[in-house]
Amino acid sequence: MLVESIVRKTLGVKSHVVKQVAQEGNELVVTLDVYRSRRLPCSVCGTLGKVRDRLKLRSWKHVPLWGMPVRLTYAPARVRCAECGAVRVEAIPWSQGKCRLSSGLIWLLSAWCKLLPWKQVAQLFGVHWNTVAAAVRQAVAYGLDHRDLAGVLYIGIDELSRQKGHVYVTNVYDLQEKRLLWSGEGRSQDTLRAFFEEHGEALKQRVKGVCCDMWQPYIDMVKEHLPEATLVFDKFHIMQHLLKAVDDVRREEARELKKNNPELLKRTRYIWLKNPENLTDKQRGRLGHLEQLNLRCNRAYLLKESFREFWEYKRKGWAKRFLKKWFWWATHSRLKPMRDFAWMLRRHEEDILSYFDERISNGAVEGMNNKAKVVSHRCYGFRTASNYITALYHCLGKLPEPELVHRFL
Ligand SMILES: [Zn+2]
Repeated sequence: MLVESIVRKTLGVKSHVVKQVAQEGNELVVTLDVYRSRRLPCSVCGTLGKVRDRLKLRSWKHVPLWGMPVRLTYAPARVRCAECGAVRVEAIPWSQGKCRLSSGLIWLLSAWCKLLPWKQVAQLFGVHWNTVAAAVRQAVAYGLDHRDLAGVLYIGIDELSRQKGHVYVTNVYDLQEKRLLWSGEGRSQDTLRAFFEEHGEALKQRVKGVCCDMWQPYIDMVKEHLPEATLVFDKFHIMQHLLKAVDDVRREEARELKKNNPELLKRTRYIWLKNPENLTDKQRGRLGHLEQLNLRCNRAYLLKESFREFWEYKRKGWAKRFLKKWFWWATHSRLKPMRDFAWMLRRHEEDILSYFDERISNGAVEGMNNKAKVVSHRCYGFRTASNYITALYHCLGKLPEPELVHRFL
């Protein structure tokens, strides 16, 4: 009797009863039934209707009890639905569509998958890896169906590389809610086009700003699909490009010094790249010494340090004047990497200065991108990109879950 009431509770059923609980092998088999006199909801429209007949027996995997796998069996009823004017299968309360897992099991497995690798969840519950994957897919499908995108005003587009840069994923974030909106394989125009085909029309009406890297395929797609939105290049990406330029200068100079003074620039990489306030005392001392010498590194360093001011301007006009001055300085520095960086800024000037119209950056979702990397490392088991993307939605999408989950877990 106890098992029956537990099963009924975890299924959340009222009209259905447990007819029998039997042990078959190491499995608990629960046979369910329904009162003939009950009126049951139509699976299409939800209207209650009289039972007409029964289909053949179906089974579902359910939440294990005391470590024993549980299988539910039940012959679904067909009802006469007055609303539809047809005979319909009842809406089965513990499952959706053709899914062979009970909703309880789906939400239990998927909740654990936010914390553990899928493989471990499979072991923990004694189910096949495919069952876990199916559960997460179902949970994600439910969440995507029920989420609300009406409040999305600012989006950030970022790429993620997997498997040492051989595989790319493009992620689109809601910058305010800090959630993953969309994820797709690759980083081409076609990748992002798929996003806009799905959501473009709805977003067009309300998105005010889009933040992304200076990556032409993204730029073209954003301008084509969201012409009204302000495109802003991500300042963290811009700073990364700048740091790379400084590092290129150091590397070249170190190579030239190899013969005469190989020690001078050894292990100075972070001294030039870090913000001075973050240097250790030892690094600061070394920098103080290096600054006395007439090094190309040092000229690049000063350019970088002065460029940090750019982001602090209150007004766009001032920022623009600063950029012009900085451009002159950088292009006359006789440092090729710095010159190249300056020209890149010039080419994209308009979309860099737009930062002063909409102060957005992907910094807000930087932590999410790190989390996405964790999800990726965690799961060598993601044999396909589509499973990986499912896991990303699951962990980063802040997807809604049905009431049942809160009651159940
Ligand atoms: Zn109906």
